[in-house]
Amino acid sequence: MILSKLLAEAEGLSHAFTERQGGGSTLPYASLNLAYHVGDDAAAVDANHVLLAERLGYTPERLVHMRQVHSDRIVRCTPEMGFESRPECDALMTDLEGQPLMVMIADCTPVLLFDPRRRAVAAVHAGRAGALKNIVGKTVAAMHDAYGSDPADLLAVLGPSIGRCCYEIGPEVAAEVEAAGCGTALSFRDGRRYLDVNAILLQQLETAGLPAGHIENIGSCTACRTDRFFSYRAEGGTTGRQAGIIMLK
Ligand SMILES: [Zn+2]
Repeated sequence: MILSKLLAEAEGLSHAFTERQGGGSTLPYASLNLAYHVGDDAAAVDANHVLLAERLGYTPERLVHMRQVHSDRIVRCTPEMGFESRPECDALMTDLEGQPLMVMIADCTPVLLFDPRRRAVAAVHAGRAGALKNIVGKTVAAMHDAYGSDPADLLAVLGPSIGRCCYEIGPEVAAEVEAAGCGTALSFRDGRRYLDVNAILLQQLETAGLPAGHIENIGSCTACRTDRFFSYRAEGGTTGRQAGIIMLK
């Protein structure tokens, strides 16, 4: 598991970015796969969730995860929400203690947000589509509306995701990125086009009002390191999901 330097220092908070080792699923989901929709054995995924909950010290039934659809929909969690809720959205937020939030990824960027002053957290799924819809900026605004969070107080961490080293895109996608005003996140090597999703997210977090010192980019590339991470692209689409998790204690 990977911990953020920024969040590890925070009081009353649990968080982690999981890696692929340490669970009970077999190939191609070996071994700590947390997603049910990818074709893995449900009992193995259940066991992986229980294992993770023990390691991080939360009640598995209280965990809220999402049916992620590359949208900009943000859900404010209520006390009765838990493991079976699975709202269709790409960001979750809560100010409730003991209610862990999970974002699952296998190349997209998991973003965790924490407001130490108002005591609220969020977990965001931000791939290319989410980045072009500015889901991180919209989540910062939603935390302001829901909890009174001042963006200047927020801490944000970008977890492992596919990097500009590996995220090759076609001309139509490049045009879409340009049209969204994110052309500086494109790079070109040997006649190929590459996208840096995290560059877009970092810019959007700063634009939303987070000080640069409150933003951390873990930086590991999921596609470069399939020994450590599940990668949808590097593994031909059939693989597991790792997660970002955040909880107020
Ligand atoms: Zn890479």
